[in-house]
Amino acid sequence: MFEEGVELKKKYGDENVFDFSLGNPNLDPPEIFFNNLRNLEKKINSNIHGYMPNAGFVSTRDAIAKKISHESNLKLNSEDIIMTVGAAGALNVILHSILNPKEEVIVFKPFFPEYKFYIDNHEGITMYCDYEENFEPSLDNFESLINANTRAIILNSPNNPTGITYSNEKILNIVEIIKKSEKKFNSKIYIISDEPYRYLEYENTEQPFINSIFDRGIIATSFSKDLSLAGERIGYIAVNPKNKNKEELISALNFSNRTLGFVNAPAIAQRLVEKSINSVADLALYKSKRDLMIDKLTSFGYEIVKPTGGFYLFPKSPINDVDFCNLLKKERILVVPGSGFGAPNYFRISYSVHDDVINKSLNGFKKVIESF
Ligand code: PLP
Repeated sequence: MFEEGVELKKKYGDENVFDFSLGNPNLDPPEIFFNNLRNLEKKINSNIHGYMPNAGFVSTRDAIAKKISHESNLKLNSEDIIMTVGAAGALNVILHSILNPKEEVIVFKPFFPEYKFYIDNHEGITMYCDYEENFEPSLDNFESLINANTRAIILNSPNNPTGITYSNEKILNIVEIIKKSEKKFNSKIYIISDEPYRYLEYENTEQPFINSIFDRGIIATSFSKDLSLAGERIGYIAVNPKNKNKEELISALNFSNRTLGFVNAPAIAQRLVEKSINSVADLALYKSKRDLMIDKLTSFGYEIVKPTGGFYLFPKSPINDVDFCNLLKKERILVVPGSGFGAPNYFRISYSVHDDVINKSLNGFKKVIESF
């Protein structure tokens, strides 16, 4: 999509192509980040650009541990945090550490498409759980997918591509089903909570920390979206201090971080996020873009489940999703078909774009849906 956008822009000019295809934050990082960047000292003899422990700087991990401890009912230490190359790096490191070949990982449709490829990377098998009308997981289907070979599930809330936040009740139900299934199959299952959108939440929906409710919870996340640092590739893993196998798990995660070729997370980015940790990009701007798009698109006739977080809308497609996206492309509007997310008949709009792009695209969106 990225390449296609570039081609279309060459042909029609940047201002005439409305690219809603990328999950790239369009807001600047918060001011405090730039202050910290300017203040990054040249520390003589401190080797600040050198290798470090594979898990990252202790001071950065300590700052993150304190933040999570403050927000949850857990007491984390720096040793429970491993700095990673984005959430993508975190997920690969976790999967490499916990999966034996042919073990299964359940993902909830609609899902971030890379999950399947990450699971493939580490010789696992992806199992797909169905969704209900509101895009929350179907619990009956979920329970029926679990067997003795299930090693992990990946939760993603607020979700890419739908922007919805799973209800507390749903998350608690998922945990209960896992506990019941572990007893039934005499197995141990991990819940990986992939949560790069945790702090991009517009309705103050209380989101439990998975580690507060499940001992084998593992958080994989990044500063890509909330601090708008996607290109700096900085994220982390938080393990649960209550996990009985914590030490073995942490050793495996450190080893995987190193041997998958990441070695450690970028040094300067670690220094910077440590000092910017309690800020987020300007949420009010994302919220106003969301509200503008929902308001306009629903008035034209699009059906949309109102998202509560992230920067995505996932409207229904009146015909085959790929065909519909091609019709929008004729209006020079780029969006992504739902099939790749495991949800054909929908398409994803990433509204992390300039307001001008939204406003100038509206006629095209209207024209296409009205033809149905
Ligand atoms: N998980 C989800 C749900 C995402 O949407 C993304 C990026 O779009 C990632 C993981 C990867 O994030 P990062 O860029 O921090 O590696």
